[in-house]
Amino acid sequence: MALLQQMCSAPSLARAVRSRSISISATRTASVSVPVPSTPAPAPTLTRAPHIDSHVLLGMSEPDLQQLATDFGQQKYRGKQLHQLLYKTKVKEIQDFSHVPLAFRNDLQEAGWKVGRSPIHRVVTAADGTIKILIKLNDNRLIETVGIPVEDDKGSCRLTACVSSQVGCPLRCSFCATGKGGYLRNLQRHEIVEQVLAIEELFKHRVSNVVFMGMGEPMLNLKAVLEAHRCLNKDVQIGQRMITISTVGVPNTIKKLASHKLQSTLAVSLHAPNQKIRETIVPSAKSYPLDALMKDCKDYFLETGRRVSFEYTLLAGVNDAIEHAVELAELLRAWGSGYHVNLIPFNPIEDSEFRRPYKKAVLAFAAALESRKVTTSIRQTRGLDANAACGQLRNEFQKSPLLAESDMVSESNMVSVAC
Ligand code: SF4
Repeated sequence: MALLQQMCSAPSLARAVRSRSISISATRTASVSVPVPSTPAPAPTLTRAPHIDSHVLLGMSEPDLQQLATDFGQQKYRGKQLHQLLYKTKVKEIQDFSHVPLAFRNDLQEAGWKVGRSPIHRVVTAADGTIKILIKLNDNRLIETVGIPVEDDKGSCRLTACVSSQVGCPLRCSFCATGKGGYLRNLQRHEIVEQVLAIEELFKHRVSNVVFMGMGEPMLNLKAVLEAHRCLNKDVQIGQRMITISTVGVPNTIKKLASHKLQSTLAVSLHAPNQKIRETIVPSAKSYPLDALMKDCKDYFLETGRRVSFEYTLLAGVNDAIEHAVELAELLRAWGSGYHVNLIPFNPIEDSEFRRPYKKAVLAFAAALESRKVTTSIRQTRGLDANAACGQLRNEFQKSPLLAESDMVSESNMVSVAC
């Protein structure tokens, strides 16, 4: 499930970091510290390249890369070099693997291998420092990714990447721009991982948190999401507890996720205190009743020990009345301490029948929950001026024919949106 409108609202925002200048062309050039032996590597002998993600290096683990190197007749340590080049130096082209013998690079390319990084098509910067990017995939499809910087009380910057898991989304939640934009396909694991690397490159800062709340429903692409999760955790070195997987609810998938016993947060987009309202907002709820969803969430908590985060988008006049808060508190009454409720004032999208609630209504809703001992937070909207709602920016650009390669992002075509 994805709500850039949630993520363009960062949890517990202390202070927004003000917008900054960015340069996309800059690539970090940290050196690779793997020692190169004095004896030259044996002449590369092309044997069998394992079929992993259609010959894309990004997303592969260090052992897989070592295996790849030996399959190409190289010594094992070359795999470690590849690993550092992909995840530390973040090199985008095989021919730029400067520490790797030219013959090995040529062999990789001739066998159809590529790094798996895509060009950035567009960047939009909001006045609060939130940056939304459009990444242009191999098949010319666009996906959205958002970088949300937050400065904590000690002055250090926490950077959250809100990543997409699908091109579009088939679930068509009625308030969601991505749902309105249609669905094309699942993302491959490297297409998820590269979003995080792109955010790091733009901000010149490490990503500290990843939330699967961009375009798409992660549970409909669980295999690639789990593979990307592994890579982000083990290779990109983002702690599992810093990763959140969000879902609107897909039957039989929460159990499956729980079986992996990840130390990551499950965020469930509830949006309604009862089945009747939920069905009107989330059409897919018809095949996954609220009772069953709540039971699976409880089982997830029992299995993993990780608190479940319930996301609740407040839509004026639809689900934001005090009676809805009372009903929601009742729904969660038996949960003890295993959950948290995030209230998200609706972020308006084009042609939407829904309205953003007044601040007074949001505060009253939160107070009604808290008075019933429901742990609640209100997400501060970030990047509201940067086509912040999920799928908005992509819809704007995907409608038009894509621009030529020469129009790939440069500082001159970056849009800085001023408040
Ligand atoms: S339509 Fe898809 S992307 Fe949009 S909120 Fe629903 S599940 Fe998330």
